[in-house]
Amino acid sequence: MQTFDFDLFVIGGGSGGVRAARMAAQRGARVALAECAELGGTCVNVGCIPKKLYSYAAGYAESFEESAGYGWKIGEPHFDWATLKSRRADEIHRLNGVYRGLLDGAGVTLIQGWAQLADPHSVQVGEKRHTAKHMLIATGGMPFVPDVAGREHVVVSDAMFDLDPFPKRLLVVGGGYIACEFASIFNGLGSEVIQVQRNAHLLNGFDDDVRQFLASEMRRAGIDIRLNSEVEMITRRPEGLCAMLGRGQRVDVDAILYATGRVPNTQGLGLEALGVKLDARGGVVVDAHYRSSVPSVFAVGDVSTRQQLTPVALAEAMVVVDALFGKGQRQLDYEFTPTAVFTHPNIGTCGYTEAQARDKFGDVTVFSSEFRALRHTLSGSKERTFMKLVVDKASDRVVGIHMVGADAGEIVQGFAVAMRAGATKAVFDSTIGIHPTAAEEFVTMRA
Ligand code: NDP
Repeated sequence: MQTFDFDLFVIGGGSGGVRAARMAAQRGARVALAECAELGGTCVNVGCIPKKLYSYAAGYAESFEESAGYGWKIGEPHFDWATLKSRRADEIHRLNGVYRGLLDGAGVTLIQGWAQLADPHSVQVGEKRHTAKHMLIATGGMPFVPDVAGREHVVVSDAMFDLDPFPKRLLVVGGGYIACEFASIFNGLGSEVIQVQRNAHLLNGFDDDVRQFLASEMRRAGIDIRLNSEVEMITRRPEGLCAMLGRGQRVDVDAILYATGRVPNTQGLGLEALGVKLDARGGVVVDAHYRSSVPSVFAVGDVSTRQQLTPVALAEAMVVVDALFGKGQRQLDYEFTPTAVFTHPNIGTCGYTEAQARDKFGDVTVFSSEFRALRHTLSGSKERTFMKLVVDKASDRVVGIHMVGADAGEIVQGFAVAMRAGATKAVFDSTIGIHPTAAEEFVTMRA
């Protein structure tokens, strides 16, 4: 019988890779994980975590302003970008250590360096070759920037956390999660933000009412959103960057962020040479159990281009670990995956948009509500909250929940449990609200 150095070799120390390595090792498997950068991947280092910290930072600007309505008198607030950057860096460094501690604690062998598959059961890292029964590719994704003239002058989301100097004027290109979140963050921190989106709406794939409502709230907050607009050329000038948009529009800014999607990180891993099938975007093609076209090679998370979300990568990793080291084979159900966009205000959503629900279920009933949150009756803010439920008429099941408003992600997370459990509108209606909250609106919608 062939013997291997390890039972599982994981390439990539981000959310999916670390989860798989740690849990497999805890179940007694001999596991190695190779990572060439800091542990934690995109989420910890240049994604979800620092983004959310910066989103909190931006939120203080609104809070300082609103506090006057509650009787507070404070001096002119001053934002120090250098302090935020260095405090974020310290926290991320701490988290890198936490990840290392988790792997060490579970007995995972951490190998620093670039790993390349040499054959279905071996990996080359530097001078050394390691063998394993199973390989897991969890190398995530990276930002994609289209081929625009002057592309060398733009930055991607990875660079936004350490920009130097702070961009007083920022152009954000794209209308997806990352573009909307950074537009909100930098607007809150004090930049003049212009956001350019190539089609007629932000946030493709979200409920149409949510897309429109969010755009109007972001505009109210001061972001200059230009829809049906594209960048044709970028040039560097002594006073900053100049972007030419269609129809002769010119924009002068200090920095340009391209947030135009992310592509799987599959280059240089030896996948093609091994015969691992890749899709048109370069993502690893996997079956329902995350097995690639080479039976010993698995892939989870953004590298296999399903839903590009940290919790999805974690869940996929657990499916692989269960199948290989314990509980047996099962299949992940992607229906009712909740998600949030940390714009100001936040979006929280779970299930089907109204249009998707009409396509899938036919007859649906829609309940929606728009209001000023209690907090803003005194704060003076004009911010509004939007909530929507989509119900399948035949079964009465709530199949879509959508919110734009403060803490939408926190609120929708709880409702996602009920939706996965198959809660009907009657169950929502029979649930007692928590008063006074915005969330209670979801159990009191009658029209
Ligand atoms: P998205 O796919 O969400 O959005 C990409 C945007 O770029 C779209 O508006 C798209 O326009 C536009 N675009 C694409 N190609 C071009 C082009 N050639 N020229 C101009 N515009 C273009 O990608 P993101 O980069 O924002 O984020 C990647 C993924 O990361 C997200 O989909 C999400 O899954 C994940 N993520 C999740 C977060 C969260 O959970 N809060 C936060 C950040 C990221 P169009 O609409 O016309 O296609």
